[in-house]
Amino acid sequence: MRQETDVAVIGSGFSAVALALNLVELAPPTARISLVGAREEQGRGIAYATTVDCHRLNVPAGRMSLFADRPDHFTQWLAENGHAATAGDFAPRRLYGDYIEDCLDAALKRTANRAALTLVDAEAQRAEALADGGLLFHLSGGSMLAARVSALCTGAGTGRLPLPDEAISEEVRPFVVQNPWDDAWWSRLPDDGDVLFVGTGLTMVDQCLRLARTGFRGTMHAVSRHGLLPQAHLAHRAEPIAPLLLPESAELSAMLAKLRAAATATPDWRAVMDGLRPVTQDLWKGWTSEQQRRFLRHAAPFWNVHRHRMAPAVAAEIAALRETGRLVVRRGRLQALHGQDDGVIASVQGRPLSVAMAVNCTGFERCTVSASPLLSSLAAEGIVAPHPIGLGIAVDDHSAVPASEGKLYAMGPLTAGRHFEITAVPDIRVQARSVAGRMATEIAKS
Ligand SMILES: Cc1cc2nc3c(=O)[nH]c(=O)nc-3n(C[C@H](O)[C@H](O)[C@H](O)COP(=O)(O)OP(=O)(O)OC[C@H]3O[C@@H](n4cnc5c(N)ncnc54)[C@H](O)[C@@H]3O)c2cc1C
Repeated sequence: MRQETDVAVIGSGFSAVALALNLVELAPPTARISLVGAREEQGRGIAYATTVDCHRLNVPAGRMSLFADRPDHFTQWLAENGHAATAGDFAPRRLYGDYIEDCLDAALKRTANRAALTLVDAEAQRAEALADGGLLFHLSGGSMLAARVSALCTGAGTGRLPLPDEAISEEVRPFVVQNPWDDAWWSRLPDDGDVLFVGTGLTMVDQCLRLARTGFRGTMHAVSRHGLLPQAHLAHRAEPIAPLLLPESAELSAMLAKLRAAATATPDWRAVMDGLRPVTQDLWKGWTSEQQRRFLRHAAPFWNVHRHRMAPAVAAEIAALRETGRLVVRRGRLQALHGQDDGVIASVQGRPLSVAMAVNCTGFERCTVSASPLLSSLAAEGIVAPHPIGLGIAVDDHSAVPASEGKLYAMGPLTAGRHFEITAVPDIRVQARSVAGRMATEIAKS
């Protein structure tokens, strides 16, 4: 069966829903908008599908509204729904998922004077170009969707273990968790066995908090190349200071040195980092590809732990787990995973570590085209191309796919090669409004 739509929004995470909600407001009232993705995931993606309250937002509630032009939208929803969180609180992510779902449900109720939004419960498996410049999506289940204008919101995916396949022996595979979000892996862990988290970022923090709430009595080991944990938010946020770096300024190393000096001289270094937010995307765009690559190679791990921080309560719990020795964080390169009786011997920086299970906590994948059948098919047709530095796909400053003549856009982490900081809600919601406006203009043309 083949259906027609004016707009296809492909994906089921925050980016897709934020875009769809803005489209409902901005598109002509006659427009048909189709949101294509797994119905049970709609709006939650990985980030907001969690069911436990220990998984907190890492941005205060007052900055998490779905809409850039209505900053109080989320805090109002919290109040209206009987939740006692204020603008400065780091609410449970589960609640944020409920908020997105509520907003989506409201938008799905058709009213006469606005565009119609429909959910299509399917995966877009491949796509091909139509003669009018639109796209024909082939969906799981065998149906097809022809769209005049489309947006790809397929997210980052889960990173792979930093090991070649041959460094993970066959007998160890049952004890290696490749996707920590995929199943309740902790239910397979013996209460007194140790566990190894590969990665020390926010994914590890989530898994660690979750495991600490089971009857688990073993030791949690966490390892990464630099052994860096995300920094903590303070309960009271210091006012961001004016941006210290300007997009056109100097060499990368000089810029980072200036940043370090300012952070040391400021009572709370977070004010320096937060002050950079308005110019971060322009700084990134001002660098050459070589500078961007150098930044990713050498500075990104340090940037990430200062920029994407833990909620204060989460940081306090992690600190307590470290103090009691339940969580041991170390620096080192994982070299191999081999099997032993009912478990794993991990080789970390040449030293063996014996654990019951190893869990991949490397976080986001880089949105590589090859990891997605849909993106691969679009690349094979010459419709999209990987971004030259390997982060997502190539888009222009407006998040449009070059040469699509405004008929194909991408959103969220998929556009990180162009915009870099485009993974958190405060950044994606701005992008959603701008992309929705352009798509609405395109639909209104005929
Ligand atoms: C654990 C975690 C916690 C976070 N916490 C915060 C926070 O507190 N504050 C904040 O601002 N940001 C947070 N973020 C970041 C941010 O909210 C995410 O980056 C954001 O959810 C990205 O949304 P997305 O829709 O682009 O991607 P995703 O959330 O990855 O969603 C993409 C969805 O599209 C679906 N999909 C993929 N391919 C197809 C296809 N071909 N057809 C149909 N569907 C497809 C996938 O199944 C997936 O559900 C967090 C991220 C994570 C992972």
